[in-house]
Amino acid sequence: MKSMFSNKSNVTGIGMTSERTRRRLIEQVREMGVTDQRVLDVMLALPRHLYIDEALANRAYDNISLPIGFGQTISQPYIVGLMTQTLFNKPRAKVLEIGTGCGYQTSVLAPFCDEIISVERILKLHRRARDLLYDLGIRNIKFRHGDGFAGMKEHAPYDGILAAAVSENIPDELIEQLAVGGRIVMPLGRGNQQVLIVVDKTASGIKQSEIEAVRFVPRLAGLS
Ligand code: SAH
Repeated sequence: MKSMFSNKSNVTGIGMTSERTRRRLIEQVREMGVTDQRVLDVMLALPRHLYIDEALANRAYDNISLPIGFGQTISQPYIVGLMTQTLFNKPRAKVLEIGTGCGYQTSVLAPFCDEIISVERILKLHRRARDLLYDLGIRNIKFRHGDGFAGMKEHAPYDGILAAAVSENIPDELIEQLAVGGRIVMPLGRGNQQVLIVVDKTASGIKQSEIEAVRFVPRLAGLS
């Protein structure tokens, strides 16, 4: 696995108290069911406060989603961990991420794969995440502005696809652009009727299973 931060304390710029606060968050994430130690280690190293507005920084290590502007949110750490461990049940070299947001989930995925194509529908969020991850030294990401639910054919097939906004259906394009052996992790449903699902593509077809009830922001329409 690639290491993102050569000197953690330099990148984060925060001291011992925050180290303790972060460890407490990771402990909560573990207790809720994220047992993959690789995922927990990556999350422990990530300075989540840098992905959100300074005014909210004191809540950065709470296990909650927080606003990032434009009616969107940074995902809850537990959910980020759960989706990451579910996607990387085995190595997956190329991943499509739908809904870059602030880039936090992108950053947790980054050490696990060779390349991520991360698509965001809101131009300002796309630009902000692209610049932040560049500053953090995370380089294996291709950031794209557009409708991620249409997939991104020019980079397909994908070994993994992860969506951070809820859709009422699984778009055919995503199934088509998934490699055989590939896996999709995404919320399915609407409003307060959503479930996190896993779709595995095998030589003989599609296998779908449910993980647990979740709450995500709705999918936005494509560029018109
Ligand atoms: N994991 C992200 C979650 C952001 S919330 C984070 O931690 O920051 C979901 C994101 O999906 C939002 O930024 C929203 O703008 C984006 N989104 C919604 N519909 C989309 C679509 N059709 N294509 C690409 N991104 C979309």
